[in-house]
Amino acid sequence: MTRQPRVAVVGAGLAGLTAGLALAKRGWRVDLYERSRLLGGKATSFEVEGHEVDCGQHVVLACCTATLDLIEELGLSDSLYIQPRFEVTVLSSTRPPARLRASSWPAPLHLMAGFARYPHLSALDRIQVGRALVAARGDVTPQGEMAAWLRRHHQSPRALRAFWEPFLVPALNAPLDRVSAAMGLFVIRTAFLGDRDAARIAYLTVPLARLAEAAAARLDGVHLRQAVVGLHRDGDRVTGVKLSGGTGAACDACVIAVPPSRLSAILGDAPACGVDGLDAFAAMPIVDVHLWYDRPVLGCDFAALLDSPVQWVFEKTPGYVCCSLSAADDLVQRPERELVELGRTALAAVLPQAARAQLLRGAATRDPDATFIPAPGVRRPGATTALPNLVIAGAWTDTGWPATIESAVRSGRTAALTLFSNAAGWTTATTGTGSAGAALEVARAV
Ligand SMILES: Cc1cc2nc3c(=O)[nH]c(=O)nc-3n(C[C@H](O)[C@H](O)[C@H](O)COP(=O)(O)OP(=O)(O)OC[C@H]3O[C@@H](n4cnc5c(N)ncnc54)[C@H](O)[C@@H]3O)c2cc1C
Repeated sequence: MTRQPRVAVVGAGLAGLTAGLALAKRGWRVDLYERSRLLGGKATSFEVEGHEVDCGQHVVLACCTATLDLIEELGLSDSLYIQPRFEVTVLSSTRPPARLRASSWPAPLHLMAGFARYPHLSALDRIQVGRALVAARGDVTPQGEMAAWLRRHHQSPRALRAFWEPFLVPALNAPLDRVSAAMGLFVIRTAFLGDRDAARIAYLTVPLARLAEAAAARLDGVHLRQAVVGLHRDGDRVTGVKLSGGTGAACDACVIAVPPSRLSAILGDAPACGVDGLDAFAAMPIVDVHLWYDRPVLGCDFAALLDSPVQWVFEKTPGYVCCSLSAADDLVQRPERELVELGRTALAAVLPQAARAQLLRGAATRDPDATFIPAPGVRRPGATTALPNLVIAGAWTDTGWPATIESAVRSGRTAALTLFSNAAGWTTATTGTGSAGAALEVARAV
């Protein structure tokens, strides 16, 4: 009698969950191990001040097709807001609210009408931004940092603060002098230069944890508060996971979808497992300030702020706003009351109605390791390891995307596909054992 192949998925972030889902769909028995009490990893929700809040505001763009597919597959499309057309309200303390809006022209012309009316750029800035966008389209092997690339393309300080930084710093979660031009241009090309609709902003209107919960509900075993501390091996095959309480669990294959430092701890000798360069990843924090006012304050669903420590603000329900502060390495250690005051003051500076409203409550959420910095020269490993039944996943792996939900989902898909194709190899390499039987079934499932 054959049995379902049993895979241990380590990490209940969206990378691990996506891999687990893909494997479960092919008939594998999936056991998910998560060290914390929550599902979703960095894309989760929890209770703060008696309200369920997201660990930080998450948005995706219409070009994040793997994420949108996942949301649909999990039956959450009705809880997804997606703009009919790219449009952003831009707030500043010096001018009335401005709009950057795409027209119905094909890309990249769709941005021209919006730029023509955007008051934060001078006529010369508009020309220079337009030229840089044209150059971005053709520059397929840019070198060095994004800030240097923008300097080479004559972007003024005003163009940086009114266009490039509000979009690129939150997308990459790092200052532009620390990120590679290759990654910066990938974002620009993918969001703005390929398809007129690609940059449409989308987000879930239910707490983010619902996504992870819906995925986990389709897996066989979900083991929360179970950290994996190592692997059991037989030669070049993983035969089980070691758990923090001193116990273990057998498996036919394993997906590890945790951040690089934790992967390094689980593997022990990562280079010997064919995974190099884990020490090269540096993390950048994100801070979110949650403010509850006695009335609505924003006048729209979300807006970008110029010249402010808050880059984006979202009014999630009337009177509850979430302020997003990316690349927050200078803020992450500050006490909560200072962060709340920072958010309150920042909103009051650009929104007269927020200055007049009464702040009922405030809270701050911080993630010191929110994303890795896509610096020039960082080499991201792919899903494959030296062990055929072990694959890795995570937003930080080599997906081509910055550390986003989209990258996590894509990495999970790739990890599952890699296991499927490796599974055919185990069947020829092993005979007669339980694992071989399992692998044979895997090969049939593939
Ligand atoms: C505040 C904030 C805002 C963000 N905003 C956006 C946004 O607007 N748009 C966007 O696309 N992305 C955003 N991101 C990034 C996005 O959330 C992440 O890139 C993505 O969720 C990472 O998924 P992952 O599965 O790769 O990793 P993670 O979510 O880090 O999942 C890894 C999981 O592994 C678990 N784990 C670690 N070690 C072990 C172990 N030894 N045993 C068992 N489990 C273990 C962890 O607890 C965690 O649950 C944001 C991130 C943060 C923090």
